[in-house]
Amino acid sequence: MSKRGGALDAIEAAIVVLEDDPAFDAGIGSHLNLDGRVQLDAIVMDGATLKAGAVAAVERIRNPIRLAREILESSEHMMLVGAGAEQFAREQGMALCDPEELILDRERTAWRRCREDQHAAEFHVDHAMGTVGAVAVDSRGAIFAGTSTGGTCCKHAGRVGDSPLIGCGCYADAEAGGVSCTGFGEAIMRIVMAKTAVEFLRTGMTPLETADASVKLLRDRGHGTGGLILLDKNGEPGFAFTTPRMAFGYVAADGNFVIAP
Ligand code: ASP
Repeated sequence: MSKRGGALDAIEAAIVVLEDDPAFDAGIGSHLNLDGRVQLDAIVMDGATLKAGAVAAVERIRNPIRLAREILESSEHMMLVGAGAEQFAREQGMALCDPEELILDRERTAWRRCREDQHAAEFHVDHAMGTVGAVAVDSRGAIFAGTSTGGTCCKHAGRVGDSPLIGCGCYADAEAGGVSCTGFGEAIMRIVMAKTAVEFLRTGMTPLETADASVKLLRDRGHGTGGLILLDKNGEPGFAFTTPRMAFGYVAADGNFVIAP
């Protein structure tokens, strides 16, 4: 049975599926931090109002993107972290989960390896990242972008990367387009990559030129690798990455679903 909804419903639904899929570093199956705990970050942004809802370092939320949406829609604030974010979830009637529910054996093993090998811990060798994101434009011209992550493996407790930060891991502006990023957060933050990409769109660059220019800037000025997906305000897609791979898909103008080879 198909359900109808707008751009916000679309990105929430897409990201919930990805958070629930253990293949990705978001929700269940996220990387563990140095203390062996999962701390999750997520954001959703409305391109019409430029308001975001974001959460960081939550440990008891199964689908952080849902809590980010709750903040977007029901809070005067744009970002809540840790225990305060979980308190807000309870106040909104959302169920909290047992932190253990988010942890997979695969991640415990990777965590042990990372702790034993400083190099792996610092550069995530053999432990690919897997942040998830989505961007949607609907028939009314509403544009939303969202990002959700477990962050980097063996990060310090309380470390927050680019993903939930407005302008870094996500940005949407109905006048230009919407962007969701992945990659080494400390590099992405240096160039405020999602907002930078939206500004590239504003100069008249195509979505593909924008994506390419963004990852080049990430390499040259941020000294890091990463990737991004984006839609311009007309729904035209763009994507680029300098990581070994980045899975992505989009709905083409003819309605067909295109996935990365
Ligand atoms: N950008 C995320 C972070 O630094 C990680 C990733 O995209 O895989 O937290």
